[in-house]
Amino acid sequence: MDRILELQELDGEIDRLERRREQLEAGEELAAARKIMEDAESRLGELRLALDAVERESARLEHEIDSMSAKLQVEEKRMYDGSIANQRELEALQHEIASLKERRAAAEDQLLEQMVRREDLEARAAEADAEVRAARAEVDRIGGSEADELEATVATLGERREAREALAALFDEELLELYEDLRRQKKGVGAAAIVDGVCQACHEKLSAVELDRLKHTDDVKRCEYCRRIVVFA
Ligand SMILES: [Zn+2]
Repeated sequence: MDRILELQELDGEIDRLERRREQLEAGEELAAARKIMEDAESRLGELRLALDAVERESARLEHEIDSMSAKLQVEEKRMYDGSIANQRELEALQHEIASLKERRAAAEDQLLEQMVRREDLEARAAEADAEVRAARAEVDRIGGSEADELEATVATLGERREAREALAALFDEELLELYEDLRRQKKGVGAAAIVDGVCQACHEKLSAVELDRLKHTDDVKRCEYCRRIVVFA
């Protein structure tokens, strides 16, 4: 491989490693994983609060239904044990019994609604619980592997920079300057191979005339489209 492509490859790798090191130092992935975990925890917390409320309301309704049933039993007994002779009193009692039954039925409907709501909440809480556990595992995993990866990245960067320095020393100064200018202007890529007449940086196919001219020139070869330094592969 031509030396300039070797240099380009090293520089590309150094750029990638530096970006990765910055990411790792910023701890963005860990922060993002923590955010996901906190969101899942707060959803779970809300569901548990809602479940508590449903349980309290269910207990209250059950208690209400029990006491209405007990009262009904007493009133119905009074109705038939002959202790009330007065017709008006009897009618009042009948009215009271009918009203109690109505209120009890309404309370039973409400209790059923709470049971349905509870089932739904329990299913969602189980899902949220699984999400929280998965998110916690992810936070632990990223926290551990990020520290290792940062260490390895810094070490590799050191090696690559040394290799880059040694390689750059072999270049003609003007060519190196041109290459570095191009890298600054063109997203880090200053040199590329030409494969089957196509510039591998901008992916344009060079004209046959230009390809022929490039093959025979002693000047620095450059892509007629993107102006990068090119090398025939
Ligand atoms: Zn090009």
